[in-house]
Amino acid sequence: MSKLKVSNPATGELIQELNINTNEEIKTAIDHAGTAFDSWKKVDAFERARLLKKWSELILENKLDIAKTITLENGKPLKEALGEVAYATDYIEWYAEEAKRIYGRTIPANQNAKRIVVNKQPIGVVAAITPWNFPAAMMTRKAAPALAAGCTFIVKPAAETPLTMIRLVQLAHEAGIPEHAVQVVVGHGREIGDIFTNSKIIRKITFTGSTPVGKTLIKNSADTVKSVTMELGGHAPLIIAEDADIDLAVKQTVASKFRNAGQTCVCANRIIVHVNILDEFSEKLSKEVKKLKIGNGLDDDTDVGPIINKTGYEKIVEQLEDAVNKNAEILAGNENMANYEQGSYFVQPTVIKNATLDMAIMHEETFGPIAPIISFKELDKAIEIANDTPFGLAAYFFTQDYSTGIRLYEQLDFGIVGWNDGAPSAAHAPFGGMKESGLGREGGVEGIEPYLETKYLSIGNV
Ligand code: NAP
Repeated sequence: MSKLKVSNPATGELIQELNINTNEEIKTAIDHAGTAFDSWKKVDAFERARLLKKWSELILENKLDIAKTITLENGKPLKEALGEVAYATDYIEWYAEEAKRIYGRTIPANQNAKRIVVNKQPIGVVAAITPWNFPAAMMTRKAAPALAAGCTFIVKPAAETPLTMIRLVQLAHEAGIPEHAVQVVVGHGREIGDIFTNSKIIRKITFTGSTPVGKTLIKNSADTVKSVTMELGGHAPLIIAEDADIDLAVKQTVASKFRNAGQTCVCANRIIVHVNILDEFSEKLSKEVKKLKIGNGLDDDTDVGPIINKTGYEKIVEQLEDAVNKNAEILAGNENMANYEQGSYFVQPTVIKNATLDMAIMHEETFGPIAPIISFKELDKAIEIANDTPFGLAAYFFTQDYSTGIRLYEQLDFGIVGWNDGAPSAAHAPFGGMKESGLGREGGVEGIEPYLETKYLSIGNV
């Protein structure tokens, strides 16, 4: 039987070997999810809510262990992992409540003898594929609304981080959610993705990951006309207007850029700063960035953990070298520590000035702790640079001026916008991207809709 090796990205040490599910086992899991759907959809909304709340309580009771597992397999500092566990349970609690608010409506008919009633019903069996950067939260923000809606749920975690997910699913069962209503399968993305998309039992695919894989899943879902929700890549601009509170902008830029070693889809990837405050902002940002300590996430003083793997590391280093070759000035960082033999990769938080639009880092998602700064004179130019990307997930801007703020909010083509705020994500708000950053939203009242079908009843001869 093939094995999946899960390693600690900070040390390269093997944490655990898991059996990879065979294709037959995965198909059986899908069959079970199909059978379980018939009974789970009939569990009333208040009971579904109660079970979801119980699940959330159990996760919080075990939060330190779960956070340690996240740190071990993903590398992020333990304090961030604890934050992720809280964020993950926020989704469960929010959707436990939303289960009770799946409302239908009545519509006045155009004939006296008719009545029109509209109801919502669960879409069916949902299959999810998730990334390694938030092993807990990317699962619960899909599983919680799916289960709340009355769907059954089967998830494939990223190869790097299956252990967190396996623990979450165990706790869901301990909470009383039926074994086949929520299941996890372990294996390789491409193969499991093909089984999911080819299945006639699965009615919805929900995916968080890279844009190329998302496009493949959309194409492969066409044959069975599955509903899809896609949370894909980003390339967030962060604009700092001339009148911005610079200290606030520095603090929030650090929060947005360096969390999870810069490996988040909403990380600021292009820092676009008004030319008159360029020097002051760059100096202050560099000073703060130099204080960030890289290391093993289990060490108390670590601010920035390792890069997840060699591929991720090499992409970051390539972008950095390309920028330096094109005359970028390094203000902080640029010490890369790869131990190829051991399998651990660290990138020192880095600030580069004099970024130009011909650099790869200004067009590609970096997924690493590099902050490139480019300057602008006119706000229209900043907006043009910001929107010049096929991505449209998150954007940030800093200004104290209302009309500048409203103008930026309205003209930036991004699904999530932070105004003087580098951390806008919240379970109660719709998260998702425009353009090639995705389809649909997760979180908030919007986040349960993709798991529901609208059904209309016309009653005649009343
Ligand atoms: P990835 O390579 O797309 O992998 C994500 C998941 O897709 C993994 O479980 C992976 O499985 C699976 N996968 C890979 N190839 C597949 C295929 N051909 N068919 C079906 N599934 C396949 O992305 P990643 O590098 O892990 O994650 C980083 C990306 O996720 C970034 O682009 C980031 O912006 C995006 N992201 C987006 C959001 C959002 O909400 N918009 C949030 C977080 C991350 P294996 O591990 O087995 O290969």
